[in-house]
Amino acid sequence: MAPALRTALAALALLAAAPAPAEWVQRVTDGIMGTRITVELWWEDRPAAEAAIDAVLAAMRHVDDTMSTYKPTSEVSQVNAHAAEGPMRISEELFHVLTEAEKYSELTDGAFDITYASVGYLYDFREHVKPSEGQIERALPAVNHRHVILDPKNRTVRFSQKGVRIDLGGIAKGYAVDLGIEALQARGVTRAYVGAGGDSRIIGDRFGKPWLVGIRDPRKGPGSVITRIPLVDAAISTSGDYERFFDENGVRYHHIIDPHTGHSASKVRSATVIGPYAMRTDGLSKTAFVLGPEKAMRIYNRIEDIDAVIVELDGTVIYSKGLEPAHAH
Ligand code: ADP
Ligand code: MG
Repeated sequence: MAPALRTALAALALLAAAPAPAEWVQRVTDGIMGTRITVELWWEDRPAAEAAIDAVLAAMRHVDDTMSTYKPTSEVSQVNAHAAEGPMRISEELFHVLTEAEKYSELTDGAFDITYASVGYLYDFREHVKPSEGQIERALPAVNHRHVILDPKNRTVRFSQKGVRIDLGGIAKGYAVDLGIEALQARGVTRAYVGAGGDSRIIGDRFGKPWLVGIRDPRKGPGSVITRIPLVDAAISTSGDYERFFDENGVRYHHIIDPHTGHSASKVRSATVIGPYAMRTDGLSKTAFVLGPEKAMRIYNRIEDIDAVIVELDGTVIYSKGLEPAHAH
């Protein structure tokens, strides 16, 4: 027997005798927040790892129950039903998310706007339903983040007029990923990945190596990537026009809405934002669709803790300043 093989066999025998070694464990779950949840972490104690993953999924379900507009009992649905009547006291958590949403509206010149839903609810991308021009025109005045009036002292929300609806679909997944990461950190996990659809966040590295998160090629299958971004302790969100859409007469109708027009925002194919928190990267990844690549990149470059990768309509890939040196090598 070759010495190398003998050594390998000896090592294997040792492994078999030792207690279960630490390793990466991954769980993939479908059906929370209408998306796929992936949790991967390094564990030394299997039951503790499974319990930690359960805690992440519980956090995700909680966000779904509180913030989904598909659930009539959710707190957000209640707000949509009653906030035009007068100030409504809401949970600390929802108040926090609404306050963050307002920040992203300001950072993006109004491209991110949770009241897009005042028109957005008229679309059903799965059923290929879109509103008529007349319907859009009538609903559009209710789209403006300034219609959402927050009172931090009394922790209330009020809509300034009838017809206003909010939807947190552009921020809630990122928020849920952050909650999941916090649940892991509270249990002492130091290396992990939590992903919900297009939003992910990572803690730690893979023992001296970064995590590699792929950015999908917008016009190819789910397995194809245009580039892989090395990440340690960071969040990353990708928005794409291929996520939820239908094509009709050469026009693509998809799930990111331009608050100024009420139509699908189609100025790029995909936008990826990298930053410290998934709520932040989620909230900023829709901007490029509404404002276009140049204007969006100016905004991304201006924000200290953010980097971005945009796939333009012709397939050109552009990078924010912080990624340029790495890209040039
Ligand atoms: P995913 O849902 O896969 O994470 P995105 O992060 O790109 O995808 O978010 C898309 C969602 O954002 C839409 O389904 C909708 O709920 C919401 N949305 C659409 N347009 C806007 C907008 N202008 N501002 C804020 N949220 C939006
Ligand atoms: Mg998202």
